[in-house]
Amino acid sequence: MEDRGVEAGRMQSEKETTEALLEEGRVFRPLPQIVVDANLNPNDYEDAVKRGRYDLEAFWEEAAHELDWFKKWNQVVDRSDAPFFKWFAGSKTNIAYNALDRHVKTHRKNKVAIIFESEGGARERMTYYDLYRAANKFANVLTSLGIKKGDRVAIYLPNIPEIAIAMLGCAKAGAVHSVVYAGFSALALRERTNHAEARLLVTVDGFYRNGKLIRLKDVVDDAMTACPTVETVVVVRRSGAKIDMSDGRYLWFHDLMDGEQSEFETREMDANDPLFILYTSGTTGAPKGVVHVHGGYMVGINRTLKWVFDIKETDIFWCAADPGWVTGHSYIVYGPLIAGTTTVMYEGHPLFPGPDRMWQIIEKYGINILYTAPTTIRMLMRFGAQHPKKHDLSTLRLLGTVGEPINPEAWIWYYENVGNQNCPVMDTWWQTETGMFMVAPTPCNVLKPGSAFKPVPGVHVDVVDANGEPVEAGKGGHVVVKEPWPAMLSTLYKDPEKYKEVYWSKIPGMYLAGDIASKDADGYFWFQGRSDDVLKIAGHRIGTAEVESAVVSHKHVAEAACIGVPDKIRGEVAKIFVTLKEGVEEDEDRLVNELKAHVRKELGPIVIIRGIEFKDKLPKTRSGKIMRRVLKARELGLKEGDLTALED
Ligand code: ATP
Ligand code: MG
Repeated sequence: MEDRGVEAGRMQSEKETTEALLEEGRVFRPLPQIVVDANLNPNDYEDAVKRGRYDLEAFWEEAAHELDWFKKWNQVVDRSDAPFFKWFAGSKTNIAYNALDRHVKTHRKNKVAIIFESEGGARERMTYYDLYRAANKFANVLTSLGIKKGDRVAIYLPNIPEIAIAMLGCAKAGAVHSVVYAGFSALALRERTNHAEARLLVTVDGFYRNGKLIRLKDVVDDAMTACPTVETVVVVRRSGAKIDMSDGRYLWFHDLMDGEQSEFETREMDANDPLFILYTSGTTGAPKGVVHVHGGYMVGINRTLKWVFDIKETDIFWCAADPGWVTGHSYIVYGPLIAGTTTVMYEGHPLFPGPDRMWQIIEKYGINILYTAPTTIRMLMRFGAQHPKKHDLSTLRLLGTVGEPINPEAWIWYYENVGNQNCPVMDTWWQTETGMFMVAPTPCNVLKPGSAFKPVPGVHVDVVDANGEPVEAGKGGHVVVKEPWPAMLSTLYKDPEKYKEVYWSKIPGMYLAGDIASKDADGYFWFQGRSDDVLKIAGHRIGTAEVESAVVSHKHVAEAACIGVPDKIRGEVAKIFVTLKEGVEEDEDRLVNELKAHVRKELGPIVIIRGIEFKDKLPKTRSGKIMRRVLKARELGLKEGDLTALED
């Protein structure tokens, strides 16, 4: 395959070692108060890395022993049908048993499992016992409606407790859930529902977002005109909006639940039976239907949550994503519940009714860990530090970020203004496909703003060239995983050939992530964007994240997106789209020149910029990632491709 290594590099030179940076105050040492009782202390960290390297199977087997199984495995990883790896082969378990059933037999029975805050500010709390009984009822509902093991259930719900009830109920009954983010259009819902051949859909009459009633059921009506496999639509009543229930397929959630028992015998599943299908964000092309299974997935998310976010039973954990993304599956619903902690769900928009809503929520519930995305951090930065400053955020112990490379400016802003310099920032690199954190620090590691640190112990991520050879420090290359990991996807739904082709064929024997990164002299990873997006200017390769990070470090810039456009002489040059911070009123021509000079200063003369365009908004996926392929198609007058994931 073509080599897409990257040559320029922020903080990559040999001289910029941790030690040198520590002297300059550009890296962050672990905070003593956190290290003291960390789930994985600094001494054990090194040991875990070694164990994960030399005996991968024993390492993950130990992690599996923290969970409950109906029948033990006879093999930790069955590699006989690679790349269709089978973790904990021969075992029986159920992820919902681990998230609920085993807790209600302990003191956690009456502990708060979910804190829900509506956009209007109402709070609801569900204990483990409440959630257990609701999930049991829903599993009975599914069974009564004829849903059998392996049948697909589409879930099109906002961030409300019923989405967790529906997911867990499916898992209990052995049905495969396919959650479709509630911000998606009728077309996107229809495509995903039809691809999964769902027999049942769960939705809501309506919900509130940004102060507006979103009439979700109307969207469903539109989608259902062409969803022939769906026999039943179960509707949660939330907003009380007037909706049409006349179609025989529509049934009320509360009516069905009222008629069911709160006991259900959780189904014993094979560890490799599918748990869910989830479509990728669609940043780089048409979304792919990623399949995850019960056993390995729960082992992977449990271990990573405990080590990376250092989660404790006493924590109140807020992953401010949506359950419609893998982040929400792994770290709003399943991970925190398996860990027996309290997970926070917020229905609404992060800026409603004002730019301090998130800080208000943290203060109100005394949240300990906040996990969000760089796009949200940059948006909140745009409104200024006075908003977090108005609130008591002192309960926070740890911060996290995911979704895109985080530029050092945003990292430091988050660290200083949200964490008050008391909370390490865990930048976690992973994918829908990986199911769990892959490259991420723990709170006992030395952090460099903008780097996701190193692979999690027991995970074998590396950066290689087109032939699969490791690249030297400071050089960019392909991100690969060299050994199977427990929460890995099992396949692409209905398309095992594509699974092999996309992830396993280009560099034989390795999982190809599709991202590029470099490692610095200390082995820290610096993610630089998608391999499809790499610019090749006069023979030099530059990652988009690198250019964007340089642009965003200018004081007037809020966000930037960089694409390559063809150039007769240099092969390709950069075009940059910029959104400015609130209230910036500079002359545009002057600012263009200033930004060009700024990038030149940051990255040197190799980044040749064709144009800089100011925009009020950048095209993003509904999960908040910049869609460079859309900007590029528009710029070059090409076909825009699959747009179902686009925000507006
Ligand atoms: P598609 O696969 O359909 O193009 P997508 O890759 O955006 O969509 P996700 O699985 O939601 O779908 O996102 C995973 C990708 O997000 C990673 O491959 C990487 O490009 C990016 N990413 C996630 N976390 C980080 C991070 N901490 N640092 C850098 N990049 C990240
Ligand atoms: Mg992807």
